Amino acid sequence: MDASPDPDLEAFRKTVRDFLHQTITPDIRAQAQRQAGIAAEPALGIWWLKELHKKGWAAPAWPKEYGGTGWDAARRHIFEEECVRAGAPTLWVSGHQLLGPVVMQFGTQAQKDFFLPRILNGEHYWSQGFSEPGSGSDLASLSTQAVLDGDHYIVNGGKIWTSHAHWSNWIFLLVRTAKPANKREGITFLVAPTDTPGITVQPIVSMSGEHETNQVFLDNVRIPVTNRIGDEGLGWAIAKYLLEFERAGSYAAQAQASLDEARIAAKSPDPVTGERQWDDPQFRRDFADAQLRVTAQSWMEKRVVSAISSGQNVGDAIASILKLRGSECQQAAQEVSVAALGPLGMADQRAALKPGSNEAAIGTPSAIRPTAKYLNGRAASIYGGSNEIQRNILFRFISAGQVP
Ligand SMILES: Cc1cc2nc3c(=O)[nH]c(=O)nc-3n(C[C@H](O)[C@H](O)[C@H](O)COP(=O)(O)OP(=O)(O)OC[C@H]3O[C@@H](n4cnc5c(N)ncnc54)[C@H](O)[C@@H]3O)c2cc1C
Repeated sequence: MDASPDPDLEAFRKTVRDFLHQTITPDIRAQAQRQAGIAAEPALGIWWLKELHKKGWAAPAWPKEYGGTGWDAARRHIFEEECVRAGAPTLWVSGHQLLGPVVMQFGTQAQKDFFLPRILNGEHYWSQGFSEPGSGSDLASLSTQAVLDGDHYIVNGGKIWTSHAHWSNWIFLLVRTAKPANKREGITFLVAPTDTPGITVQPIVSMSGEHETNQVFLDNVRIPVTNRIGDEGLGWAIAKYLLEFERAGSYAAQAQASLDEARIAAKSPDPVTGERQWDDPQFRRDFADAQLRVTAQSWMEKRVVSAISSGQNVGDAIASILKLRGSECQQAAQEVSVAALGPLGMADQRAALKPGSNEAAIGTPSAIRPTAKYLNGRAASIYGGSNEIQRNILFRFISAGQVP
């Protein structure tokens, strides 16, 4: 990998920075900082998506023919890094990052024409109905049933941990349309508006106090056959295709942002005791350890981006490695950012954390988010396929002699 600066990419970085500087005002940045979830809540997130759409940047990874930017991997990576640095709201991924590529790859022309523009302009807000009670890691054991009745499927069963389902107006679902001996067969991919009769969404509140996930009940839900993506029984192949987009993200920029916040907090004297966490050698050791992991992750991400940009095939195992190491380094950084607050890390900041809240922080404003972010971040090694499952996948590659 050539690590020397590329003038074209540096010019691109400047264009992105200039745009972010104009658009992410201090007020927007402050609003984004009052949210600790996986993604910004819709009022802020959809506003940001629309701003990006005006600029033609709503879907950095999509080809131009579908309204994407056509950017190569290096430009997409720079864009993500700069958005995090600018404190932009984190976009909800189910539409543009997960469903969009599936529709492009497996959808009919009519489905592409209908869904893709509505993902781009924020009209459709999607949730992902894959996991079920009892079918998470072993997703192929899912049992939500879809029975063909004329030109509709009748769907019965339920989904769990469905993030943002209470805000979404569309959901994509893996359902069972047949029960062959091989459980990976007989799975089908359907999409439906969430106001379809028979769909009920109930909240699951996480230990950080946020309501992001839900349980979704499906009782005699009628979904037209025209809302099936791909052939009947192709659902497992589609799910595997989609999950690679979910796992291969960039983690280092977010983790670095947590560490940058931690450094500032640790060097600020505690408002009551006057003590600084930075003066504690154990804190500095933990900080250095987390920083090394984040730097290593950043270089791994850059190496992958550079390989993809120069046309190399990086191999399927890379998505698992990025997810495994990325979520671990993010959690290490979040742990340090709580430790940096000292006793303030124990304060319950939930009142100040609500979007649009005017509640003052307990202690200093920088103490509002780290603990909730840390608690929320514990889930990063579970969702999108737990880290144990990523290790199993890697073991299969390695034992087949395909060392990534
Ligand atoms: C915050 C959050 C948001 C989520 N959002 C969504 C969403 O929007 N849509 C959606 O469909 N799902 C979502 N999920 C579900 C997520 O994908 C599952 O939780 C995950 O796949 C694990 O499944 P499970 O919870 O059933 O745990 P289980 O599969 O029961 O696993 C329990 C434990 O056993 C371990 N384990 C299981 N099998 C093995 C094995 N073969 N080898 C080694 N260890 C194993 C796991 O790693 C885990 O530690 C979300 C989850 C969380 C926590």
